[in-house]
Amino acid sequence: MRVELLCTGDELVTGLITDTNSPWFEARLFELGVKVERIQLVGDVRPDITHALLEAASRADVVLVSGGLGPTMDDFTLECAAAAEGVPLVEHPEVVAWLRERYAKRNIPLTPGVYRMARVPQGSEVVRNPVGSAPLVIQRLGRSQLFFVPGVPREYRALAEGEVLPRIRAALQKDPERVYRAFRLLRTVGIPESQLDATVAPLVSQHPRVVFGFRTHAPENHLKLMATAPTQAEADAALAAAEAASRQLLGAAVFGADEEEYAPVLARLLTQAGATLATAESCTGGLIAQELTAISGASAFFIGGAVSYSEKMKMAWAGVPSEVLARHTAVSRETAIAMAEGVSAACETTYGLSVTGYAGPTGGTPEDPVGTVYCALAARGSPTRCERFSITGDRDRVRLFAATSALELLRH
Ligand code: ATP
Ligand code: MG
Repeated sequence: MRVELLCTGDELVTGLITDTNSPWFEARLFELGVKVERIQLVGDVRPDITHALLEAASRADVVLVSGGLGPTMDDFTLECAAAAEGVPLVEHPEVVAWLRERYAKRNIPLTPGVYRMARVPQGSEVVRNPVGSAPLVIQRLGRSQLFFVPGVPREYRALAEGEVLPRIRAALQKDPERVYRAFRLLRTVGIPESQLDATVAPLVSQHPRVVFGFRTHAPENHLKLMATAPTQAEADAALAAAEAASRQLLGAAVFGADEEEYAPVLARLLTQAGATLATAESCTGGLIAQELTAISGASAFFIGGAVSYSEKMKMAWAGVPSEVLARHTAVSRETAIAMAEGVSAACETTYGLSVTGYAGPTGGTPEDPVGTVYCALAARGSPTRCERFSITGDRDRVRLFAATSALELLRH
C-alpha cells in the first residue's frame, strides 16, 4: 500500500509552525508495516493544492490531507479537491445538521462561513468529527482514496486514529503484498557509535530480515532493529534472534531496551540490592544527583550528594583529608577515592560515588589535560575502585560523560 501525506497552510511554508501531524501519523502507520512514501507541504494557493492533490492521487493508494477545512476564507482545501475531481462542491445536509447542533450547544452564532465546512465534493463520504466542527471527508480520485482532516493536531489525531487508521488496517488485511514489522531499540552506554557498528556488523548477513540502524543520543548510543516478514510471527521471530545475537555481542554495554531509561535501570539495581548511595561531585556540579532524583522513589536508595566543587567543600562535605589535597591535586586518583570514601562514611551508605575532573575549556595539567576525569566508587566491604577517563568535547559534553562514566561504575 502506497501512502502519501499532504499538509496545507501558509503557516507551514512560512516558518510559523512546524508540521507535527505527519511525524505522528508516520509512526502510527509504520507500526502497521507501512512507510509513508512522500510528504508535501503546500501553502494556501488554490492551483498549488489542486495540483498537489492530483499528483499525490496519481501515485498513492491513500492520501491523507490536512488543514484548510475550517470556516475561514483561507480554508479552501475541499474546493481544490472538487476541482481536482471535476465535480461541484455541494452542501451536505448531514454536516449542516451536525454544525447546527454543535454551534447551538456552544452558543456561537452560525455565520455564513460555518456552512463552508458542510460544502464537500459531490459524491464524497463524510464522518462526524468527535472533537471539532469540520468533518472527515473521504473522496475517491482515480485509484486513490483521499482523506481530508482538519489541521488542528487534536482533531487530526482523533480522526486519524478513530477513522483513517481503522480503514487502512482493514484494507491491509486484503493486501497481498502486506508485510509485518517488529522493532527493538537496544540502548547502550560506554561504547562509541563506530564500535557499536563494528561489533554488530557480522550479524547483518546472518539476519537478512532485520535492518540494523544506529542513533547517537549522548551519552547513549542506540541500536535499532527492525524486522520485516510476511507474517507477524516470522517478524517477531526474526527480531528475537537478531536481538539475542546483538545482546550477546554487546554484553553489558546494553543497559535497556525501547523506552527504558538509564537512571531507572540503575535505581532498580540499587533498590533490588537494598543498597544506598551518596555522591560527591566536583566538575559535574550535581548532575549525578539531578539524574538520580529525577526518578520518583529515589529516596529508597539515594541518601544525598555533595557538590564539593572547591577544596574547602571537598574537605568539609566530602571528608577529604587536607593531606590528600596537599600532596595530590584536586583532580587526582587519590582525591576521587577520598571523596567517595569520605561521603560514604559520612552518610553511612553501601556506596559512595565521586567524580572530579577538568571540564574545561581552560585548566588541566600536562599529565591531566582538560577532559581528564577521575571517578571512584567506594563499596562497603570491598576495595574502592577508581577509573581515569579522557573525555573529548566541550564543557557540557565533558560534564555529561563524566556523570555517566561515574554512574557506570555502579552498573559494572
Ligand atoms: P480550523 O478549523 O482551525 O481552521 P483547519 O482544518 O482549517 O482548521 P488549518 O486552518 O490549516 O486547519 O490549521 C489550524 C491550526 O492547526 C493551525 O493554526 C496550526 O496551528 C495547526 N496545524 C495545521 N496544520 C498543522 C500541521 N501539519 N502540524 C501541526 N499543526 C498544524
Ligand atoms: Mg483553517
